[in-house]
Amino acid sequence: MAVALIVAAGSGERLGSGRPKALVPLAGRPMLEWSVAAVRAVEAIERIIVALPPGELDAAPPETEAVEGGDVRSQSVRAALRASGGGDPVVVHDAAQPLAQPKLFERALDELLRSGADAAIAAARVSDTIKEVGEDGLTVARTLERRRLWAVQTPQAFRREALERAFATASDDLLATATDDAWLIERLGGTVRIVESRPENIKVTTPADLHVAEMLLEERVR
Ligand code: C5P
Repeated sequence: MAVALIVAAGSGERLGSGRPKALVPLAGRPMLEWSVAAVRAVEAIERIIVALPPGELDAAPPETEAVEGGDVRSQSVRAALRASGGGDPVVVHDAAQPLAQPKLFERALDELLRSGADAAIAAARVSDTIKEVGEDGLTVARTLERRRLWAVQTPQAFRREALERAFATASDDLLATATDDAWLIERLGGTVRIVESRPENIKVTTPADLHVAEMLLEERVR
């Protein structure tokens, strides 16, 4: 059976609420609980491990298992993976993406099993034109081909063996630079498949994102 790791150990400095971001109230409940509710509705997922900031382990919702997160996101994933025992596949999700619906988790798991890939990750098509700059940080070096670009989200579903190998071969310095776990698979030559998601599965970073998430969730509940 599958296991879900929800990482919720970030401080949320950019949100400026003085609370860990995942515990900030959002449309009537702590942000983390939206993700936990979505995961609970996925039949194939048997256990939910939640990485929380040190001193906040009591905030774990019922029927989840709490583990202390690390200094950076990937270290929190690694701590949750270690605590998770033997479930396979492993689904990693950010509490900062509270709009992800059960269907998206199911589609990621289905694609992982159907394709035989090492990972299947939610991502949305990019609507902006994206340019890459040179070393000075502001001079455009090139314009990327939009039809091949995807904005990566969570959930991300992994074969346990591939994810464990990816973490076992990554140094702490490398983990500090990894903004998603699929990259750790890519660098070992593993196969990562995209599962198309909507841009509305936003990541809450700023107070403006929190407003948008609140609006979308209230609309959904109505
Ligand atoms: O900070 P950012 O929004 O990029 O974090 C993405 C996700 O990773 C959030 O759900 C956050 O709680 C989690 N995280 C974590 N441990 C950290 C940093 C971030 O679990 N040290």
